[in-house]
Amino acid sequence: EELYGVNRWGAGYFSIGENGNIKIAPNHRLPDITIDMREVVDEIIAEGIELPAVIRFHDILRSQVEIINETFSKCIEEAEYKGKYCGVFPIKVNQMREVVEEIMDAGEPYNYGLEAGSKPELMAVMAYNDNPEALTVLNGYKDKDYLTLALLGRQLKRKMIIVVEKFSELEMLIPLAKQLGVEPMIGLRSKMMVRSSGKWAGSSGDRAKFGLSIAEILNAIERLREEDMLHCAKLLHFHIGSQLSDIRKIKEAVSEGARLYAKLVQEGVELEYLDIGGGLGIDYDGTSSTTDSSRNYSTEEYVADVVWGIKQVCDLENVPHPNIVSESGRAMTAHHSCVVSNIVGEVNPSGTDFDLSATEDEHILVKNMRDLFINGAQYHPQERYNDAAGYKQSAYEAFKLGILSLKEMAKLDTMYWRILADIHTGLDEESAFIQELDELEDMLASQYLCNFSIFQSAADTWAIGQVLPIVPISRLDEKPEVRCSIADITCDSDGKLSKYIEGTEIRENIPMHKLKKDEAYHVGLFLTGAYQDVMGDMHNLFGRLTEVHVYCHDDEPGDFYIEEVVPGTSAEKVLTTMQYNTEYMAKTVKKHIDRQVRKGHLQPREGVRWTNFYEKCLAGSTYLRVD
Ligand code: PLP
Repeated sequence: EELYGVNRWGAGYFSIGENGNIKIAPNHRLPDITIDMREVVDEIIAEGIELPAVIRFHDILRSQVEIINETFSKCIEEAEYKGKYCGVFPIKVNQMREVVEEIMDAGEPYNYGLEAGSKPELMAVMAYNDNPEALTVLNGYKDKDYLTLALLGRQLKRKMIIVVEKFSELEMLIPLAKQLGVEPMIGLRSKMMVRSSGKWAGSSGDRAKFGLSIAEILNAIERLREEDMLHCAKLLHFHIGSQLSDIRKIKEAVSEGARLYAKLVQEGVELEYLDIGGGLGIDYDGTSSTTDSSRNYSTEEYVADVVWGIKQVCDLENVPHPNIVSESGRAMTAHHSCVVSNIVGEVNPSGTDFDLSATEDEHILVKNMRDLFINGAQYHPQERYNDAAGYKQSAYEAFKLGILSLKEMAKLDTMYWRILADIHTGLDEESAFIQELDELEDMLASQYLCNFSIFQSAADTWAIGQVLPIVPISRLDEKPEVRCSIADITCDSDGKLSKYIEGTEIRENIPMHKLKKDEAYHVGLFLTGAYQDVMGDMHNLFGRLTEVHVYCHDDEPGDFYIEEVVPGTSAEKVLTTMQYNTEYMAKTVKKHIDRQVRKGHLQPREGVRWTNFYEKCLAGSTYLRVD
C-alpha cells in the first residue's frame, strides 16, 4: 500500500482491499460502504463497453460539496463569525453538464452557486443556477454581450455578480446598465501583492493578468459614486492561483484581502461579500508537502485560516464580517473521476528473441560479447558492464563502416541487452553495486503501452509536469516486479508517464506487475476530475473517452450501479471537427473498392465486406480495440 501511496492521496475515498483490488468509499458519511474497483471494471466490460473509459463516482462529487459547505458552517459557528459561507463552483474546472448538475443538486441545501469565466460558461450557468439565493460569480474578460447577459440574469432575480477585472469593463457596464434600466451587482477584483508560489504563481503580483490595482479600485469607487451606483459594489474578489501548496501563502492572501475589504468598507463601500477565489489544493502525490503536486494543510486548516483570518482583521478594523465566497474547483472535482485503461503491449529492449548460435567466421566483437554473455560469473559486474558498453559502441562504429553484418549486429545487440538484464538481477542477489546503477535501471525499464492519450486525458502531466497517481486496479497484494514507464498510444514521444511517488519522494519508472498472457491488466489514472477531464486536446485525433457514471447503493453495502454511459467520440465525429466530410470519404473509398471489383481484383462479396468495414470503423472508437 505504501508503494503507491493510495491511502495518502486517496483522501479516504481510495484504499486497497484485502483482495488486492482498489477499494472505493465514495460517501464521506458512510466510510464503511465500499465498492470494489475491479468489480466496477468487470461490469463495464460485461455491458459491452470498450475501455479506455472515464469512470465518474458521483457520490464523491456530492461528498466534496457537502464537506466544503459543512466545514465552513462548522467553523463559522465555532468562531461566532457573523457572515455566511456562499460557495460557488467554477465550471472552468469541469464543465461537463452531468458534473455541474450533480454539484448543483448536492449544493442546493447550502445555496451553493456557480462561477463562470467566459461567455459560453456564463450561458451555461444562467441555465443551471436558478436558485435565487445562490450566487453566480462572473469572472474573466467581458464584452458588451457578456455584460448584457449578466444584466438579463439580474432581471431573472438572480444574484449575479459581475466581477470587474479591468477598469474599462466598468466604463462599459455603467452606461449599459443605465440604458437597460437594470441595477447590476458589482464585484471588484483586486490584483494582490502577495506572491503565491507554484505553477500558477503568475495569478498574483503586480504583473498578474487580471484585477485592479489599489489605485484603480479607488478610481472605480469614485466612478460609481459619481454615477450614484456605489451601492451596487457588493463584492471584493481575489484569486492568487490554483493548487496553493503552502498554507502560509493562503494566510497572507486572506490577511491582505480582508484588510482591503475593511478599508473599502471604511471608505463607505457597502460590500457584502469577500471572495477568496480558488486555490484549495489537492495532495496528488500524497506527500502532504509543498511540492507543486501537493499541499501542506487539510481542508479544515484552510477553512479555519480563512474564517479566523477574516474575523480577526474585521474585528480590529471594526467593520462587519462579510459573507465568505470561495471558488474551489479543483478540490470539488479532482477525486471523483479516473481513467481506466488496459495495457495493450510492452516495449522491452531486453525482451527480443533472436538466434544467438555461434558461427565460425563471426566477427571478434560478437565473440567477445558472447564471452561476456556466457561467462558472466567470471567478471565483476562493473567490469562486465563497462566491457559490454565498449563492445556495443565499437560494434555500432563497425556497422556504420559496413564491417559488421546485419545478423552479427542483431546478435550482438540481443546479447548486450541480456547482459544488462543479467547484471541487474545479479546486483539484487549479491548486493553488489555499479556506478551506473540508475542509468542501468532506466535503460532496462519496460514501457507498458496504455490505451489512452495523455494529451486527451492527463494534459497537465505533459504541459506542466504535474504528478497524477497511476496504479493497477488489482493485484495490489502482489509485489510489483517490473519498473516501467507508461507510454500512451499517440505517436508522440512526450506521450508518457514515468513519475511515481515512493514515500515522500518522486521517482522515475513506475512499479508494475509482470503481464500475464491471458489476463488483462488494468491501470487507473486517478484524480483526473479537475481540469484533466476537460482540457485535453485531440492530438492524433484521439477524441473524448467513453464515460461511465457510477453510483453507490447506500443500503446495499458493496453494491453499485451504472447510471449512465456517455459514448466516446467516434472517429467520424473527430474527423468532422477537422472539416472532413465523412460521407464523402465513405463514398470515395467505396468507389475505389468498386473499381477493384470491376477490374476483377476483388470478388463483389469481398468488396461489400471491405466497404462495410470502413464504414464500421468510421462509426467506431478512436482508441485501440482489444479483442
Ligand atoms: N476562480 C478563479 C478566478 C480562477 O482563475 C480559478 C482557477 O485558477 C478558480 C477559481 C479555481 O481554482 P481552483 O481550481 O484552484 O479551486
